[in-house]
Amino acid sequence: MAKVDYDNPDMSQIKKAADILKRGGLVAFPTETVYGLGGNGLDASACRKIYEAKGRPSDNPLILHISDISQLDPIVSKIPEKAKVIMNKFWPGPLTIIFPKAECVPKEITGGFNTVAVRFPSHKIARLIIQEAGLPIAAPSANSSGKPSPTRASHVEFDLFGKIDMIVDGGATEVGLESTIIDVTNETPMLLRPGAITREMIEEVIGHIDVDPAVFSKPDKNLVPKAPGMKYTHYSPKASVILVKGDIEKVIEKINNLAENDEKQGVKVGIMATLQTKDKYSFGTVLDVGDRENPETIGSNLFKMLRKFDFLGVDVVYSEVFDEAGEGAAIMNRLNKAAGYNYINV
Ligand code: AMP
Ligand code: MG
Repeated sequence: MAKVDYDNPDMSQIKKAADILKRGGLVAFPTETVYGLGGNGLDASACRKIYEAKGRPSDNPLILHISDISQLDPIVSKIPEKAKVIMNKFWPGPLTIIFPKAECVPKEITGGFNTVAVRFPSHKIARLIIQEAGLPIAAPSANSSGKPSPTRASHVEFDLFGKIDMIVDGGATEVGLESTIIDVTNETPMLLRPGAITREMIEEVIGHIDVDPAVFSKPDKNLVPKAPGMKYTHYSPKASVILVKGDIEKVIEKINNLAENDEKQGVKVGIMATLQTKDKYSFGTVLDVGDRENPETIGSNLFKMLRKFDFLGVDVVYSEVFDEAGEGAAIMNRLNKAAGYNYINV
């Protein structure tokens, strides 16, 4: 574990991380979304190590991270016009774009597809490491597959200690949710995963986009999701998570009732509340995930809270739900997955 200050990064640690990547090793580092587990994206054997360390199914493709726009041309075979518009607007930043891939990109990282996912992150430490390595870096979230994505170096350490060569600790990540993913390989672009760059923001610059049905509903077993990651369980803490939907006062009353009953039966209850509601619960362990008036605070804390419930050893988590406009779409997408789409309507 090497601490690196965002405002004044220690270049000797950055060089050390880059050297490990150049030699085919694995380095976890912060990005503006979550911590990534980096490896040389053009080296099939480094990529196999990533899958192994995470316990990730080999058909779930990786995103290639670049630190300069000039690194894009060699890894894609075409850059559609609409892609150019959103690259100009949102890169560097938390947006991943799916392009037709170039020959040099190993199929090991694309899940066998002829497309490749690319992101240009804005985080200074991530960019310095990629730049120093001089390679496109494959970097899925640096967690064990299925667990909530890491937003702190300590989360990475908990999941991957001993399995990777270096962890760069650059503090808490800002966005806290994985990047938005958009596929531009068809005439009408399709949103595959919502994130901090919202559908509304993208539509403002390129007009209507489609949304993969798997974004909002439990994936149909017979449908092959466009973003393969969608079919796997995600973000799941050990506890079962149940979302309670409806008018907020009724939600609070319902959760209090459920929690009181569960506690009588010896069940350890966690409650995911907000700044506005946390004082209204009389049972269970109540965690404040953020401010309803500022959804970014909820996005930023969500995975940390899911991990904290695990750490506290609760058996069940009752969670409030959030408005799906803007970044709320990404928050509800992750919460629904964490809950396995289990909810109660009041
Ligand atoms: P992660 O690296 O954990 O943030 O997840 C990366 C996700 O990007 C995967 O789960 C896929 O759903 C998606 N992805 C990566 N490459 C492709 C691709 N070529 N086509 C479609 N989806 C992709
Ligand atoms: Mg992930």
